[in-house]
Amino acid sequence: MDTRTRPAAPSRARRRPARWLRDLSIVIKLNAMVAVFVAIILTLLALAGAALAITNGVRAYVGGEGLWSKGQKDAVYYVMRYARTHDEADWRKYQAAVAIPLGDRQARLEMEKPDYDYAIVEQGFVQGGNAPEDVPYMVFLFRTLGGYGHLAQAIGIWRQGDRHLDRLVEAADALRTLHRGGAINPARERELLDRIDQINAELTRLEREFSATLGKGARWLQRVLLLSVFASTALLLACGYWVARRIALELRLGILGLREGALRVAAGDLDIPVEIRSHDELGQLARVFNDMMAHRRQAEESLRSAHEFRDKVMESATNSIHALDLEGRFTLVNRRTCEMTGYPVEELLGASYVKLFPPEVLAEVNRQFETVIREGRTVEQFETVLQRKDGSRVAITFSSAPLVRDGRIVGLVGTAEDISARKRAEAALAAHAAELARSNAELERFAYVASHDLQEPLRTVTSFTQLLAQRYTDRNDPTVHEYVGFITESVQRMRDLIEGLLAYSRVSHQREALQDVDLNERLQQVIASLDAAIKASGARVTHDPLPRLRAYPSLILRLLQNLLSNALKFRRADIAPEVHVSAAREDGVWRISVRDNGIGIDPQHAERIFVLFQRLHTRDDFPGNGLGLAICKKIIEQHGGRIWVEPANPGSVFHFTLPAT
Ligand code: ADP
Repeated sequence: MDTRTRPAAPSRARRRPARWLRDLSIVIKLNAMVAVFVAIILTLLALAGAALAITNGVRAYVGGEGLWSKGQKDAVYYVMRYARTHDEADWRKYQAAVAIPLGDRQARLEMEKPDYDYAIVEQGFVQGGNAPEDVPYMVFLFRTLGGYGHLAQAIGIWRQGDRHLDRLVEAADALRTLHRGGAINPARERELLDRIDQINAELTRLEREFSATLGKGARWLQRVLLLSVFASTALLLACGYWVARRIALELRLGILGLREGALRVAAGDLDIPVEIRSHDELGQLARVFNDMMAHRRQAEESLRSAHEFRDKVMESATNSIHALDLEGRFTLVNRRTCEMTGYPVEELLGASYVKLFPPEVLAEVNRQFETVIREGRTVEQFETVLQRKDGSRVAITFSSAPLVRDGRIVGLVGTAEDISARKRAEAALAAHAAELARSNAELERFAYVASHDLQEPLRTVTSFTQLLAQRYTDRNDPTVHEYVGFITESVQRMRDLIEGLLAYSRVSHQREALQDVDLNERLQQVIASLDAAIKASGARVTHDPLPRLRAYPSLILRLLQNLLSNALKFRRADIAPEVHVSAAREDGVWRISVRDNGIGIDPQHAERIFVLFQRLHTRDDFPGNGLGLAICKKIIEQHGGRIWVEPANPGSVFHFTLPAT
């Protein structure tokens, strides 16, 4: 995969978040953002809770102080009244009133212990007239902030009050003891009451001081709380904003990179891949995007080379290649189409095929077009005539197939071949063949007539030569005998030639009908007729059982005669001739083979020997006239068969086929 990237701008590089942050999954990043804000909210809630607890605590202490102060004042009032009335009810009221500050003191003393007992604290505060619900706040405030600032001062004042409270209780108890004793001691009573008054004044001062210090502390605390709430809110929000901004920036850059990549792809630029900034989902997306781009680039390249290949094939094709739409208009043509029609490409594209055909063939061509377009069938090698731009006509064959896209026929694609040259050649060949057949017939006729007519004078020459020979026999002149021998031999050769020619021409004019022929019988006939030659050469002629078949009997006889006599004639000087005739049935025909062990035939002359008057060997060694095998070939063709020769080792084997019945 291509990993080229656009160089990133320096400012962007500086603003990049840390690698670990970039590689985190987007889900984790978003969860982290949510977590940050949840933490901020929880912290704020905790701060608010703490502030509430502190405020509640301060409020409870202020309220408690009011009760405490009232209790102390009531205690002083009732003890003084008791001094006057000696009424037990007043004494009890005094006791109830003094229990309030004593309860508060009990709670404070317990809270000052490191391992305080909450129950004792609660009991003390409740005795001091405080609501049990406020106790946790009071404990919290005392134990967390009790050692600091104004609160510590207020608690110090509270502690100072203890001593006076003890003195108050002492004085009250002394007064009671005095009264209970029954002794009347106005001076002592006076002194005790003055002390109580003094303690009261002192306690009242301390209470005021306590209230003022607590008030200051409360205001200070309020400010501190407010400040810390604001500060921590601001700090948390800043942190949250920073994290969120980092994450959002990274996501934005990743998305922007993908967007730019998508725009580039849309504009056809597949060369610059998208920058892979991280390993998160966007990074994976960018990687997949780049892979996709690489695949598309590959696909486009293969498409381009496929198009180039198609164009090359189209342009180098020797036939017309074209495509038509459903209305029969050309949508694609190659160079050869233009050459064949004489129209330039711009005149063909978009034009209908109709203008390329003369009126007399148009209906048929239209039918072919419909066959392809409407029925979806192919048309193969349809022969017709094309009318070129200059009006000249060319013979063509065309083949067309439907062009199917998404299961629908959208046109056709076809090829056309200019066959005018082939047509001309075929016509010339046909004319030539007819001419040849005519002259052959004439020649055969001439040969027949001439041979026939030559027989008569030949007979005369033969008869008179014999008469002449008899007449001069008495003279005993060797020259005469020699001359007569020459004449007789020449006459014999001429007769053979004439007979051969007659036989050759008779093959095609034979009058007999096809008959059942037993090849065994015919072969025996031939062997009998060649008896002298067989004996003279010491030949051995053998054969396998041969079939019966439908043939012209005299022609078959002649065929076997020629082949067997050749097999005996073209023998080797050193060994006695051996001839074997066999038969094999194959593909509905009989193949008959005549094998000899003679001088053999060079394969390069295998065709030539079946042509009239073609001889491979000299007349002196092997007298002949080159007619035998030509006659054989003609006989075999007359039967619809085939004749050929193959070399055998030694000698040769002639095969011919005849139809099996
Ligand atoms: P001819 O026998 O009168 O020469 P043919 O037409 O019978 O003419 O044969 C043509 C030539 O084929 C012969 O001249 C000879 O050279 C060759 N030929 C034919 N049969 C044989 C054979 N069995 N062995 C070798 N050569 C042969």
